[in-house]
Amino acid sequence: AEETLRQGEKMQAIGQITGGIAHDFNNLLQVFMTGVGLLRRPGLSDEIHAPVLDAMDYAVESAAALISRLLTFARKQALRPEVFDLNARIAHIRELLTATLGASVSLQTDCAADLWPAIADPNQLDISILNLTVNARDAMLPDGGALILRTYNVSLEATFERPAGDYVCLAIEDSGSGMSPAVLARAFEPFFTTKTEGKGTGLGLAQVYGFAKQSGGDVAIESAPGKGTIVLFHLPRPTAATLIREAKQEEKMA
Ligand code: ADP
Repeated sequence: AEETLRQGEKMQAIGQITGGIAHDFNNLLQVFMTGVGLLRRPGLSDEIHAPVLDAMDYAVESAAALISRLLTFARKQALRPEVFDLNARIAHIRELLTATLGASVSLQTDCAADLWPAIADPNQLDISILNLTVNARDAMLPDGGALILRTYNVSLEATFERPAGDYVCLAIEDSGSGMSPAVLARAFEPFFTTKTEGKGTGLGLAQVYGFAKQSGGDVAIESAPGKGTIVLFHLPRPTAATLIREAKQEEKMA
């Protein structure tokens, strides 16, 4: 749990850094747009032309440098997939989730007893669950409500996001405000947030989406205003071959 807490703090730091980058990027865009506006003016003199172009050049180069810094930062987060038990993972971070939710939200769990193992990076999963929990908490402000975590086995048909097969599902259901169709359509977009400045980074669901896809699973949201929100998170069940390989690896380590 301590490790998760550190990861959570790290995520917050990442949020602040990327939030700052977004802010700087916007400022540079402003410079560029102002330049475009100026250059469009008819009869602009040559003395003004050159410095305006210089400023635009500077803005574009700075923006490119910012993005490349952001990308090297993002690439560092290599995934380390493992076979693990989702129920045990939830039990492991339960206290952290309760603390995150605060006294006005009750946390309920409904975990399938015969749950298949899942394969993914468990530390990244903790961060995803934490991000989803923070969103649920925020959606239930100020009165609080209930957050239900459910786990179960599902065999799914193929979609364009992931292949057909066996998946372990984590369903996270809150009794909060829900999302309008317009918000739902953009919810996974990086930097999209409806929260006031400083409260949201718009990176929570982007992390959840990226992690689900990189793990070979997917994530879907069912939500409507006043009806609360259900996030369905699917992680692949390891194949028999993977399980045998893991067992042999463990034997070798022992
Ligand atoms: P952030 O939480 O920083 O705003 P996210 O990417 O996690 O960024 O979420 C994007 C937006 O999606 C939120 O600002 C909010 O409008 C909406 N949202 C996410 N989760 C929920 C939820 N459980 N209930 C209602 N709205 C939500």
